[in-house]
Amino acid sequence: MTSLGPIEAAPLVDPFQRSIDYLRVSVTDRCDFRCVYCMSENMTFLPKKELLTLEELDRMCSTFVRLGVKKLRITGGEPLVRRDIMTFFRGMTRHLESGALRELTVTTNGSQLKRFAGDLHAAGVRRINVSLDTLDEAKFARITRWGRLPQVLDGIDAAQAAGLRVKINTVALKGFNEDELFTLIDWCASRDMDLTFIEVMPMGDLGGEDRLDQYWPLSDLRARIGERHAMVELAERSGGPARYVRLDTRQKIGFITPLTHNFCESCNRVRLTCTGELYMCLGQEDMADLRAPLRASNDDALLEDAIRAAIARKPKGHDFDYSRQRADGQVSRHMSHTGG
Ligand code: SAM
Ligand code: SF4
Repeated sequence: MTSLGPIEAAPLVDPFQRSIDYLRVSVTDRCDFRCVYCMSENMTFLPKKELLTLEELDRMCSTFVRLGVKKLRITGGEPLVRRDIMTFFRGMTRHLESGALRELTVTTNGSQLKRFAGDLHAAGVRRINVSLDTLDEAKFARITRWGRLPQVLDGIDAAQAAGLRVKINTVALKGFNEDELFTLIDWCASRDMDLTFIEVMPMGDLGGEDRLDQYWPLSDLRARIGERHAMVELAERSGGPARYVRLDTRQKIGFITPLTHNFCESCNRVRLTCTGELYMCLGQEDMADLRAPLRASNDDALLEDAIRAAIARKPKGHDFDYSRQRADGQVSRHMSHTGG
């Protein structure tokens, strides 16, 4: 069997007629931070041999691109701590240049941006997401355990100077950053950055940190913004669980609310872990091992078959539910495993 070329390959469509054209790829499970809602302090990381090599990551992503994936988001763990990761980014440039790939982007904690912003731009990245929950140095150190705010702010400066458009992602945490709602909004406006709030999700073992205690519903956050700003809903859809409004200041604010609302019907994405497991839904345990078919032959036919079989199993949606005051539908893996 030989793999189909770019013209013959049928696009990926799941059983609910959703076109799958967005792949999020976790390139490492490691991170230089230990955010309390994401990792425990003492994480055991995977042995190196479990990880897809940079060449395997290239082959994997290139196969998805051949099957119609138009947008690649590189995430982790912290993607920019993976050794030689720029080699991988530079490899993906060819798909941008051929027009097969529309967007190559990255979600990062910002710690390594000072070093890599220019290289990312040179590889064809134009927009990035930087995760930042607070502008207070002491609170930043508390929530990330190991992070330093000035390093991230320098990284954001470097990204903007390199010509990258920056969107800030902020996890809404009750009793932690509620008081910074408008500080964050105004700071983003002053730097011409969009801002998206994310509801904390029940990922990983809860350990001493109870995700329910941290849960700040975005419906409440949004109502508070509404007390100060007029806002209009935007029709814009990313195929994910994000909804956007525009404030009277022209600023765009996003809300990712997988818990208070469920937008699975328009889901266009799947997620690949750094070991080559494909999760068809962030909130479900089912996954397909793509590393075995990838390693079984140099031909991509086995891999293509495995990808199609996985997409044919994509579930209708997740089962996260806090409404019964328990973290129902919780999945046991950490966000850094599947890639946020
Ligand atoms: N290290 C990079 C970063 O922090 O942007 C990329 C990976 S991180 C897992 C991706 C996103 O997931 C971050 O914006 C982070 O805030 C978010 N995240 C992690 N754990 C979460 C949780 N339990 N609930 C909601 N968002 C979470
Ligand atoms: Fe690292 Fe990102 Fe998880 Fe924080 S959210 S621990 S930066 S992977």
